[in-house]
Amino acid sequence: YFGQGVALYVDEITVSFDGFRALNKLSLTIDVGELRCIIGPNGAGKTTMMDCITGKTRPDSGTVFFGSNVDLLRLSEPQIAQIGVGRKFQKPTVYEQLSVFENLELALKADRGVRAALFHRLGSEQLGRIEEVLKLIHLQGEVQRTAGLLSHGQKQWLEIGMLLMQDPKLLLLDEPVAGMTDEETERTAELFLTLEGKHSLVVVEHDMKFVDQLTQGRKKVTVLHEGSVLAEGLLSDVQANEKVVEVYLGR
Ligand code: ADP
Repeated sequence: YFGQGVALYVDEITVSFDGFRALNKLSLTIDVGELRCIIGPNGAGKTTMMDCITGKTRPDSGTVFFGSNVDLLRLSEPQIAQIGVGRKFQKPTVYEQLSVFENLELALKADRGVRAALFHRLGSEQLGRIEEVLKLIHLQGEVQRTAGLLSHGQKQWLEIGMLLMQDPKLLLLDEPVAGMTDEETERTAELFLTLEGKHSLVVVEHDMKFVDQLTQGRKKVTVLHEGSVLAEGLLSDVQANEKVVEVYLGR
């Protein structure tokens, strides 16, 4: 979509809440198609960073670029979503009363408004896309099932599927495997590894086993602490980093 290059460029963003610096000159670059895990203790600024990317919070200073030429700080939260930044919060938010299929259908037509969505029939291309996503999220066998009856893990997958219906270029995921079983966690890792390359992904995560599954011993992770980047590198390297160990032992 952008070709090769940078998917997200965050440069020295600072955010203060009543004089408290939640982010302190935080910089981060994500390449097109990259899967990056962000770790760090509670209060490190991970959520605030995501909020600055999606337009929910405006930094006091600094730069946030999407691709090489879209200044996200000039766009509203809905505009940022529309140009291809999808965000998944920790808790699943699906339409509990609707079926798995209907949830995906609504997500696909979300930009048409509910009225149009209800009366517009799906074309074969759109049906194909829903099928493709159902397969990715392991819910082919649950198409007609009421979303409220799915397991916690399945609801998380459904929500990821709903994001995928919009074909986001960049996906931001906040602790996507919290509360999942080991098996669900493994399947989620498989899903993300499939999405990698086609989408850029930023995953905030506490579960180190999951981070290990995602990075496969060769991808960079970023450690946040007190609002800036404390370390960046392979998981094994940052876990052996003295500063990082100190921060985590302090918990
Ligand atoms: P993380 O997601 O890494 O746990 P957060 O981004 O949620 O960290 O928070 C970073 C720091 O900013 C914390 O100390 C938190 O208490 C503070 N903070 C976050 N949001 C607000 C807010 N709206 N008002 C005041 N302080 C906030």
